[in-house]
Amino acid sequence: MKNEDILNRWSVEKSAELYGIKDWGNGYFHISDTGEVTISAPVNGKTVSVNLMDVIKGIEDRGMTMPVLLRIENLLDSQITRLNESFRSNIKKFAYQGSYKGVFPIKVNQQQQVIEEVTRFGERYNHGLEAGSKAELISALGMIKNTETLLICNGYKDEEFIDLGLNAIKMGYQCFFVIEMPGELDLIIKRSKALDVKPLLGVRLKLSSQAGGHWTESGGDRSIFGLNTTQIIEVIDELKKQEMLDCLKLVHYHLGSQIPNIRDIRRAITEACRYYTDIYREGAPLEHLDLGGGLAVDYDGSQTNYVHSRNYTLDEYTADIIEVVMATLDEHKIPHPVLTTESGRSVVAYYSILLFNILDTTRFDTHALPETLPEDSHELIQNLFDVRNVMKIRNIQESCNDAVYYRDEIRQLFRHGQINLRDLSLAESIFLKILKDVSLLMKKIKRIPPDLEGLDNALSDIYYGNFSVFQSLPDAWAIDQIFPIMPIHRLNEKPSRECILADITCDCDGKIDRFTDIHDEKKTLSVHELLQNEEYFMGAFLVGAYQETLGDLHNLLGDTNVVSIRIKEEGEFDIVRELEGDSIADVLSYVEYDPRQLQELFRQKAEEAVRTGKITAKDRRRIVDSYEESLRGYTYFER
Ligand SMILES: *Cc1c(COP(=O)(O)O)cnc(C)c1O
Repeated sequence: MKNEDILNRWSVEKSAELYGIKDWGNGYFHISDTGEVTISAPVNGKTVSVNLMDVIKGIEDRGMTMPVLLRIENLLDSQITRLNESFRSNIKKFAYQGSYKGVFPIKVNQQQQVIEEVTRFGERYNHGLEAGSKAELISALGMIKNTETLLICNGYKDEEFIDLGLNAIKMGYQCFFVIEMPGELDLIIKRSKALDVKPLLGVRLKLSSQAGGHWTESGGDRSIFGLNTTQIIEVIDELKKQEMLDCLKLVHYHLGSQIPNIRDIRRAITEACRYYTDIYREGAPLEHLDLGGGLAVDYDGSQTNYVHSRNYTLDEYTADIIEVVMATLDEHKIPHPVLTTESGRSVVAYYSILLFNILDTTRFDTHALPETLPEDSHELIQNLFDVRNVMKIRNIQESCNDAVYYRDEIRQLFRHGQINLRDLSLAESIFLKILKDVSLLMKKIKRIPPDLEGLDNALSDIYYGNFSVFQSLPDAWAIDQIFPIMPIHRLNEKPSRECILADITCDCDGKIDRFTDIHDEKKTLSVHELLQNEEYFMGAFLVGAYQETLGDLHNLLGDTNVVSIRIKEEGEFDIVRELEGDSIADVLSYVEYDPRQLQELFRQKAEEAVRTGKITAKDRRRIVDSYEESLRGYTYFER
């Protein structure tokens, strides 16, 4: 069925360029000769690739249905390795005297499996954890692997939080309390005396440096976190008074997440080093400099300082940190600190892909129009029809204006009962046909009249994806984050349609109409025509950070199925874990229903229907069974 002509002119290279997979893929995603997305992962020093369609087949053969959140263990392992090795090699290159000890901020993806893998892969680098709340600390205390790794506690701390941390110190853990608010210190001092434990303390700076980007309110004067200069002096003086200044070992700041511009990063480190120097000279035996998060992910592959990108590589990031710290501290002969980053997004983003199938499409297509209109057609419809006959490149804008005018007048006629539904439908079809003609003509002109920009977007298809934006890509909805999204097969065929994506919630915000592009954002996505009896699979990539637990239960669509794979040396993959998504009973119980009670109520209603003769007792059994089976079923569309 596939058109040979199209196959000949198109190539997988063209698909790769169109979707920018090499630009944002970080070396992990490619397209096979047969037109399918592959995942490439380092395994024992070799790069091994598996075909994503084989993974989907493996998942479906085991009875799991789309949508599925796929996690690829190797990519998490690789990102932790790349981060640590990059610091290692630059530390060596610059003869930096300190070391690097990273921590993973739990809030970026709190799922137990994720934290378990982060600590497992991080163990060989003593990569630790950052906790911002009691719950996160409790998780960290359970998951952390050894006492060499750091455990950094940010966030508001009450007595219970502090006691947990102090007990950890007693057990030998390097558990730091970062003082974020002036009030915290008194409680920490009080509890450490009561429990007879020397605390490990840090201060969170409120830097004046600000960064451009989406998530950067954490930095700057108005930042809600961190101590200002007066408060830092107060902390130092209080610690001196208590003879506890020797507990102050760490300086921390967090500029915000996804900092696209390296200049902002350099400026912040420079400022932080000034604080470090002076706090050190006050007598605090500082040993750690913790630069927080901010290491960005290049979601659109543009390598620019655009909010969804970054204008630096990982190696530039680690080299710049080391250079700036050395340049500032060497001047004052201050020993090089252990460097810590709380890199979250960049560590986990690549590791998850949301896989979903397309359920249906809407096309704004025109039916064939008649050669001439019926004699008795309304004059305005006739006028609209005639617009097509006189349209030229020269009068394209004018023709368009006329068409819109007639279309609006015709709608008015319908509202007043002067034409019927069939007339209106004909008029709408003529109008759409005119827009299509305009769109074709526009391809022949260089400068598009401003009023006509965006016309193609208005004509694009809607592809309905089996997922919920609110549950699986909450940042796409809440803060206009864009993720790379593309079909994962048929990439050797030319995509002949342009679409926006709608999800299966019945919310008009449940859509994606901004897509990554290295030059500019795109308003539509190129896709293939659906084939009969063949599923069309797409993937939303780089969704490992922040998307899983911020999601909500819009329309009671619950957690998706999660499948974890490990790619093996021989090019095979193991399904190492599968987590069934929420059932309908699960999501109902989240909103305080008791599924058993619902079942009971439904049974009673069915009994009532038997009593009044609407259904038979046998019908009742079938109906009740199917209700109960649905309760146990998946919340997404099932074929
Ligand atoms: C959120 C957060 C991070 C993680 O930032 P990323 O940009 O995802 O690496 C690190 N530290 C603190 C204090 C945070 O609040």
